[in-house]
Amino acid sequence: MSLRPLILANTNGDAGWRLEHYLARGGYSALKKVIAGKVSPEDLIAEMKASVLRGRGGAGFPTGLKWSFMPKGEGEKYLCCNSDEGEPGTFKDRDILRYNPHAVIEGMTIAAWATGATRGYNYIHGEIFELYERFEEALQEARNAGLLGARILGSDFSFELFAHHGYGAYVCGEETALLESIEGKKGQPRFKPPFPANCGLYGKPTTINNTETFASVPFIINMGGQAYLDLGKPNNGGTKLFSISGHVNRPGVYELEMGTPFAELLELAGGVRGGRKLKAVIPGGSSAPVLPAEIIMDCTMDYDSLSAAGSMLGSGAVIVMDETVCMVKALERLSYFYHEESCGQCTPCREGSGWLYRIVHRIENGQGREEDLELLESVAGNIMGRTVCALGDAAAMPVRGFLKHFQSEFAWHIEHKGCLVPLDVQRAGSQIYVSPSC
Ligand code: SF4
Repeated sequence: MSLRPLILANTNGDAGWRLEHYLARGGYSALKKVIAGKVSPEDLIAEMKASVLRGRGGAGFPTGLKWSFMPKGEGEKYLCCNSDEGEPGTFKDRDILRYNPHAVIEGMTIAAWATGATRGYNYIHGEIFELYERFEEALQEARNAGLLGARILGSDFSFELFAHHGYGAYVCGEETALLESIEGKKGQPRFKPPFPANCGLYGKPTTINNTETFASVPFIINMGGQAYLDLGKPNNGGTKLFSISGHVNRPGVYELEMGTPFAELLELAGGVRGGRKLKAVIPGGSSAPVLPAEIIMDCTMDYDSLSAAGSMLGSGAVIVMDETVCMVKALERLSYFYHEESCGQCTPCREGSGWLYRIVHRIENGQGREEDLELLESVAGNIMGRTVCALGDAAAMPVRGFLKHFQSEFAWHIEHKGCLVPLDVQRAGSQIYVSPSC
């Protein structure tokens, strides 16, 4: 088994999140090493590049490279942590905030040293208020211990960090919408360029990384970039947290070496519930294209393998569907979510996501038309790459994935004006429920 906890190691459930426990696990030793050794920002960034830590929020952009985009020299600069996970099936960042908030604080403080940021915000999803409060407490513990704030550990390095409560819209997880939201404006994505490294929060240079990305930083500094990379595969360094849900016996968050076979992850999660047959898996959050069982069982869980299979690792949210799932119904729920969450700023996403939902909805309700499959492809194709942010693509990609692998099930619905998977079978499998508001 490739279960390899780093971030979640020895966190001892709900009892190990406080500063004293984190220090007992060796916490803040990486920050002390950086400050005592006066490690140069260039050397820190080189270490991060050597680790090939790719952004854990979904895009997989190399972290070291992102940090290197920040302009050199004095001046106000910001750091933002994106803890606004809100995509159906994604629930791993909240476990980091719940069990190991100090790893995020330490990682952000090291990132501030590397990028020259003087102030930071952790934007925490609006529906996990108890974790917002816990993070506030952890921040205060770090300040009281001289690990955060003015003159950290007696040095001349200062960095102030705040928790910011998210407003509950999925689109606020898009990095520029997140910046708008922190500034107190409506959370709508900005046009890019300019990119945040040049013009970010309050118009100042800003680096934005995901919670898991920041929490990985102390481990990389302690073990060295190459050792971290060696835990995974070339170009896919380190460990990854997977939140696995749906038809498995033990849904939850598992931290594995990058490149672990999907079959091992499924086994760790107790296998398919009720001993049923695996039908399909969405491997990287609900926007990732779905893969049928025969393809996913041959995949390893890393960026390159899933991309070669026609999907993506995304946030590492794995949604497992067994043979009782109606694929039309599953897509209908997903399409509804993206339609609901479109901010409405650009036409292809605002109109197209609703159009996709309405077509899938009528197919599901036995009113599908012969031309609907072609129309779905056409609408999805006209959204992709034509919007301000990636939410447009996120609405289109599931449609294309479902049609690519399960077109015959959609065609059956249209021809027979009903469902290929009988309702009693669906009920027996307790249909995966994707809440439009989760
Ligand atoms: Fe808003 Fe959708 Fe355009 Fe993103 S793609 S800016 S969510 S309308």
